[in-house]
This record gives sequence, structure tokens and C-alpha cells, in this order.
Amino acid sequence: AAKYTGADRAREHTSALDATAQHHAELAAGLRRGLERGEFKLLYQPIVELPSGSVAAVEALIRWQPNDQPVISPAEFIPVAEHSGLIIDLGAWIIDTACADAAAWQLRYGTAGPLVSINVSARQLLDPDLPGMVADALSRHGLTPDRITIEITETAVFAGGAAMETVRELRELGVGVALDDFGTGHSSLTLLRTCPVTTLKVDKSFIDDLNGTAEQEAIASSLSTIAATLGLRAVAEGVETQDQADRLHALGYRYAQGFHFSRPIPAPDIDALLNAPVLTA
Ligand code: C2E
Ligand code: MG
Ligand code: MG
Ligand code: MG
Repeated sequence: AAKYTGADRAREHTSALDATAQHHAELAAGLRRGLERGEFKLLYQPIVELPSGSVAAVEALIRWQPNDQPVISPAEFIPVAEHSGLIIDLGAWIIDTACADAAAWQLRYGTAGPLVSINVSARQLLDPDLPGMVADALSRHGLTPDRITIEITETAVFAGGAAMETVRELRELGVGVALDDFGTGHSSLTLLRTCPVTTLKVDKSFIDDLNGTAEQEAIASSLSTIAATLGLRAVAEGVETQDQADRLHALGYRYAQGFHFSRPIPAPDIDALLNAPVLTA
């Protein structure tokens, strides 16, 4: 039998890399076609006020359903869209669609309607046209700027100096800016001194750990105190149980999001929730 050599291993490694590159190239082409064919949709996940469970806001979360195929999650295709540059056009579609839905809710419910959070990735935040794109979408849909919040990540802010300027321009427009996955980066607290955000989304990992130990409660509680002291909203992410919701409320959290309240759902289902009284059991 042939001996398995280092050269064989190297060749296998190379072909695995080629396969990955090819998979990415196919995905990128599919994404571009998908955007032309209207294969994307936005779902909305409620962000509720504690303890009532009433819907204060919703986060837009993208889904891709290529023709007759299963839904593909953003964790899989957003990095490819970023790498290929398509995220700029896809991002414009996301901003426009979310603003259209937000404007419909504003018309229907006025200031009682849900605020709408929109995720942007690092490459979008580095695009100097982003604030202009947001301003255009607001005016096209007749939407008040404070009805939307742009969700950014710490990694994106540190990706380049221009990102911070973009955040300032977004704030000048009057839109909210949320730091997503807060606490998971390398310099979360440093960033709070310089980056003019309006909301901290406390990462799910801190919520998962809320099991009654003093240390975990102290961390979750301190994060909500920091937000309150700086005049920022704190939203707890990834709440999956009633027990977590109760603890979070006791620790001073006013807003929470997670499967316990609702999974991401289509826009009309949000209306159904708004017309029903509360989400908590
Ligand atoms: P994210 O912005 O932190 O969004 C929260 C993610 O956590 C969503 O996953 C949501 O479905 C999930 N989630 C919410 N509550 C729970 C819970 O209680 N338990 C668990 N296990 N998960 C929960 P999703 O929709 O798959 O999105 C994943 C990530 O993809 C997002 O993380 C965001 O970084 C990115 N993403 C999603 N939509 C967009 C978009 O429109 N534009 C951009 N640039 N990125 C997006
Ligand atoms: Mg988010
Ligand atoms: Mg998040
Ligand atoms: Mg998160």
C-alpha cells in the first residue's frame, strides 16, 4: 500500500482550501442573483419591556431562501457578502426594507409603534456613504430618525478610524446606535468613553450564566448600572427562560430579547403581537 506522506497531506489541505474558496465564490454569485430575484426577507424579533413583556422595539434579522432550498442563516452568508463587497448593496436593501416596515408601524401606531433595530457589519460601517444611505431611506419613507437604531459591533468600530466618524454622523442624523454583543470584545469599556452610542446590548453569554451565583449576578448587574449611569439603554440578549427574565428585572434591566419572548417572526406577526396584550406567560 502507498505510504501517506506529508506531500499528500499538503495536497489535501490545498484542495480543501480550494473547495472552501469555490464554495465561497458560488455563495457570492448566488447572493448576487438572490438579491436580484428577491430571495431575501427580514424577520423581526421583539425587544420587550420588563416585566410587562410589551413590545418596545424589534430587531431586523435577515434570512435568505434560495429557490426551493432551505433557509440559509446570516451567520453563513453575511461573512461571504462582506468579503465579496455585496454587503453594500445587500445592506442598502436591508436598510430600505426595515425603514419601510418601521414607517408602516409609525403610521399605524404612532410613537407607540416598535422602534426598529438594524444590524450593520464592519464593511458597511467603514463605508462613508452609510449615513447618506440611511438619511435617504428615512426621507423616502417619511420616517422619523429616532424610530430606528443601527446595531454595530466593537470589532467593526476598531476595524478603522473612519468607523467612529460614521457613528458620529449617524448620531447627528438623530438615529440611535447600539453596541451589539456588548462585553465580548477586547475593549468594551474603553469604547464607551469615545463612541457615542445610545444602547448597550448585553451579550447572551452573560445572560446564559445567570444561574444565581453571586459573581454572574454582579457582572450582569454592573453592566446595567454602567448603562444607566451613562444614560444608555441596556438590552439583555438571548433570554430563554422566565427565571432569567425575572432575575434580569431584579438586576435593573428594563429591556430584554430572546426566544423566551419570541423567535424572529415576519412583520405581520409583529402586528398580531402588538394587538395582543403581553408576551409573558
Ligand atoms: P445578532 O445581531 O447578535 O442577532 C441576535 C441573534 O441571536 C439572532 O440570530 C437571533 O435569532 C439569535 N437569538 C435571539 N434570541 C435568542 C435566544 O434566546 N437564544 C438563542 N440561542 N439565540 C437567540 P440570527 O438571526 O441567526 O443572526 C445571527 C447574526 O447574523 C446576528 O447576530 C448578526 O450579527 C447577523 N445578522 C443578522 N441579520 C443581519 C443583517 O440584516 N445585517 C447584518 N449586517 N448582519 C445581520
Ligand atoms: Mg444585532
Ligand atoms: Mg446581538
Ligand atoms: Mg449576541
